Amino acid sequence: MSTPPPTALTIAGSDSGGGAGIQADLRTFFACGVHGMTAVTAVTVQNSLGVEGFAEVPTDVVTAQIRAVTGDMGASAAKTGMLATAEIITAVAKTLDEVHIGRGTETPFVVDPVAASMHGDPLLREEALEAIRTELFPRATLVTPNLDEVRLLTGVEVTDAASRRAAADALLALGPQWVLVKGGHLDGGPLCVDLLSDGTEYLDLEGPRHDTPHTHGGGDTLASAITASLAHGADLPTAVRDGKRFIERSVASAYPLGQGTGPVSPFWRLV
Ligand code: PLP
Repeated sequence: MSTPPPTALTIAGSDSGGGAGIQADLRTFFACGVHGMTAVTAVTVQNSLGVEGFAEVPTDVVTAQIRAVTGDMGASAAKTGMLATAEIITAVAKTLDEVHIGRGTETPFVVDPVAASMHGDPLLREEALEAIRTELFPRATLVTPNLDEVRLLTGVEVTDAASRRAAADALLALGPQWVLVKGGHLDGGPLCVDLLSDGTEYLDLEGPRHDTPHTHGGGDTLASAITASLAHGADLPTAVRDGKRFIERSVASAYPLGQGTGPVSPFWRLV
């Protein structure tokens, strides 16, 4: 018998191709030495070429999964990915309050506001954006939008350092404790610059840009690595730095698989 590792709960959608969603979260949690638990919100039909469609899981089954695992095993940290509908988001938010996860509790909660796949396939019903703003953001320890999600959520178009800061402020006004504006999708330069802020500190986090088309699951892997580090007890800025190092190595180790976009790989940690 050995001592149990920290636990992390992901509330997200399944990717049948195994590179993003729940599958990316579990790969990452495992590679980071955390016991992963899941509340599946939707089942997508997808491969390296894109998402053909999805079916959402009944809302009461989503919330029952959260109650079942937190009530028995407890969660050291939690994250959300694809949530699919406003109904699921509202129910998840209520249930998180009930099980004491999120801002104002001892259990950190990371919100990756997944709206679409990198191929542009929608992963969220349109009316659900408002529920992300009003139900999830105020409960989040950290939100991790990419630039498309920043524009959808706030209307701010990030093109440079000043608009990145304006975006961070607009997101913080929605109530999360910290925001990480991921600049990875901004064109140009050899560096990816992400901005981490709690409204007091504004930290530019720079990392190398890897030239690869195989970045499927990158956002999920970053948010999961941050969540894993929080589960191990790191403070928020340290967890984000850990997560960035982890995703940089995972992008550098990405592999081609299928005819389209291959997945980033958390396996570098294991070899
Ligand atoms: N499928 C699921 C279930 C996801 O959660 C996500 C992203 O969070 C994606 C697909 C999209 O991944 P990508 O942006 O790498 O296409």
